[in-house]
Amino acid sequence: MKFGGTSVGTPQRMKEVCELITRSSEPTFVVLSAMSGTTNSLVEISDYLYKKNTEGASNIINKLEQKYMKHLDELYTTSEWKEKTEKFIRDEFNYLRSFTKILFTSFEEKVILAQGEIISTNMVTNYLLECGVKTILLSALDFVRTDKNAEPDFNYIREHATKQLNDNPDYQIYITQGFICRNAYGEIDNLLRGGSDYTACLIGAALQSEEIQIWTDIDGMHNNDPRVVENTMPVPQLYFEEAAELAYFGAKILHPTCIQPAKFAGVPVRLLNTMDPSAPGTIINNEMQHGTIKAVAAKDGITCIQIQSSRMLLAHGFLRKVFEIFETYKTSIDMVCTSEVGVSVTIDNRSHLADIINELKQYGTVSVEDNMVIICVVGDLDTENVGFETRACNALKEIPVRMISYGGSNHNISFVVRNEDKTRTLQALSNTLFI
Ligand code: ADP
Ligand code: ASP
Ligand code: MG
Repeated sequence: MKFGGTSVGTPQRMKEVCELITRSSEPTFVVLSAMSGTTNSLVEISDYLYKKNTEGASNIINKLEQKYMKHLDELYTTSEWKEKTEKFIRDEFNYLRSFTKILFTSFEEKVILAQGEIISTNMVTNYLLECGVKTILLSALDFVRTDKNAEPDFNYIREHATKQLNDNPDYQIYITQGFICRNAYGEIDNLLRGGSDYTACLIGAALQSEEIQIWTDIDGMHNNDPRVVENTMPVPQLYFEEAAELAYFGAKILHPTCIQPAKFAGVPVRLLNTMDPSAPGTIINNEMQHGTIKAVAAKDGITCIQIQSSRMLLAHGFLRKVFEIFETYKTSIDMVCTSEVGVSVTIDNRSHLADIINELKQYGTVSVEDNMVIICVVGDLDTENVGFETRACNALKEIPVRMISYGGSNHNISFVVRNEDKTRTLQALSNTLFI
C-alpha cells in the first residue's frame, strides 16, 4: 500500500492511514511519501544553497521545523513517543542546517531531498508503535537501488527486499520510504519527483504481492485531467498498457514509468482514494476490454523539431542519421511523423537542443516549435475496432493540430497541439468521447 503526500499531509490523515493499513490481518508492506509540500520546500532549500544564500535556506528550514513540531501534540498521546519523535525531528533539522556550512553539490541536494520521506515514515512508525501495532521501519536505502543507467536495479531490489522480509519475520506492518534510493555507486539518490509510486510498484512486483494499492487524493484514474476538464469520471478498469500510456503521457496520478514492473510481474495495481476509502477506484490488470476508449491525458513541455530535406527523397539511411544525433545527446524522442521529404519528432528534454539542431542542419532545414503538448487518447484500438481514430479526430475539428501519431501501439492515438489550445482540446475530447 502506497500513500501519497496529501494522504499523510496532516497528523489526522496519518491516523486515517494507520486505520487503513491495519484493517487486514495479512502482513502489509507500506510505502509512504513525504508530507505534502515538504519535498517542494526541500527543493527550495537546495536552490538557496546552490546560490550560497544560507540565510534564505535557514529561513525555510526554521519554518518547516516549526510546522513539524506542531504536529507532535496532535499525533501522539504518550510523552514517551512524543519525546522520541521530537528528538528525531530536531536531529533531522539540525542535520539540514549542517548543509549551510559545507560546499553544496548535486550529491548534497539528493541527501536533502531524501529527508521528507525519512521524517514521515518515522512519524507514522512511531504512531503505530504507540498504538501497539507490530511494526518495523525498513530503510529504502538498504534495498532500493538504481543501476549505472539510473534505472531501478530490479534484481537487486528483489533480492534485498526479500532478505529484509526474511530477516524480520512476524511483523504485521513493514514501513518504508517511497522515492528515495541509492544509485549504482551507493550514493543517496531518488526515483524522480512523484517516485513513491515507482517504489511501491517495484517492491510489490519484487515480492510478488497479491496487489499493489496506490492510495491518493482522488477516486482512481479519471477519464481526463480533472485539473483542467470539468465533469471527469473515474475509469473502473485499465489494461496494464493503457495505464502505462496514460502515466507516461501526463496523467499525474501515476509516476510515468511505475506500471512497467507491475506489468512484468503480473501484479494488479489498484488506485484508491484515502479521503473516500469505499470508492471502487481503478483496477489495472491484464484484462483488455475490447472496443472501448478509456481516457485522455496531456503531456506538457513538448518541443517539436521538423527536418525537411529533398535529400530524404528515395534515400535510405536518412532516419537513422537523424535518430543517431538524438541518441548521441541522450535525448529520447516521444513521437515521430514522417513524409517523403521530411520528418517531425517531439522531445521533452531541451537540455541539448542547441547541439542537436546544429547537427541536424547537415541533413536539412530545421524548424523548432516550443510550448507544445502531446494529447494522448487511450483505449483498445485493435484493427477490428473501426472508427476509434475518426471519433478522436472529429473532436478536434476546430483545433490546429501539429502532428498525429496512430498505429504505433494498439492502445493510443496521439496529437500534438499548442499549449494555448490544450484546455479546449482536452475539453473537446471529453465532450465527444465520454458523453
Ligand atoms: P500523490 O501525492 O498521492 O502521489 P498526486 O498529486 O501525485 O498524488 O496525484 C494525484 C493527482 O493527480 C490528483 O489530485 C489529480 O489532480 C491529478 N491527476 C491528473 N490527471 C489525473 C487523472 N487522469 N486521473 C486522476 N487524477 C489525475
Ligand atoms: N515526495 C516526492 C515528491 O514530492 C515523491 C512522491 O511524493 O511521490 O515528488
Ligand atoms: Mg504522486
